[in-house]
Amino acid sequence: MTPTPADRRIVLATRNSHKVGELRDILAEALERTGLELVGVEEYPQVEEVVESGVTFAANALLKARATAQATGRPALADDSGLAVDVLGGSPGVFSARWSGVGDGDKDRANNDLLLSQLADVPDEHRGAGFVCAAALVLPDGTEVVREGSVRGRVTRRPRGEHGFGYDPVLELPDGRTLAEYSSAEKHAVSHRGAAFRALADDLVQLFGQAG
Ligand code: IMP
Repeated sequence: MTPTPADRRIVLATRNSHKVGELRDILAEALERTGLELVGVEEYPQVEEVVESGVTFAANALLKARATAQATGRPALADDSGLAVDVLGGSPGVFSARWSGVGDGDKDRANNDLLLSQLADVPDEHRGAGFVCAAALVLPDGTEVVREGSVRGRVTRRPRGEHGFGYDPVLELPDGRTLAEYSSAEKHAVSHRGAAFRALADDLVQLFGQAG
């Protein structure tokens, strides 16, 4: 197989190979139209871990994409996401991954247990919530684009479903299923990450044009 020409690479600021695969699927058409090749940041050992010090999803996504574009000299993509619960004023938000603290053990379970206990007295009609994702594209010339996507539902009273990760078992969509009861293909079609990156796909096509 011919190696990817380095000048067609676009770098996704994640070390999670599952995310690289997911994003290759979501961006498949845009990658084909632009001739870009999506690679994970592990191909560039010089990129250091970024401290996610922003207080919005967009700020954190931009921090990661900027650092990656700067260190690699290549266009970079990054995302940041989490659960925003209406009665909690948008929390856990950017603290979603560490809502129950930073200890060891089953983080997802501890986060879900804490959230459900915080909402124990909240009636069904006030349990609205959504996953939000900010997807950022940063070019070495300083061009920056951020697109957001979300998926709305409400917080259940107990976890349901075996698929997905994180808060998927506690966010019920309008069809009555939690996201953990969606297959991964079904989830990508409706998810916050899918929506944000599908929007960014249009920017990629506009900025990089047709493959020639
Ligand atoms: P990240 O920014 O994609 O790493 O997500 C941060 C945290 O938000 C994760 O650790 C999860 O707790 C939560 N989260 C983000 N996206 C999802 C999702 O699709 N399902 C469930 N939880 C999510």
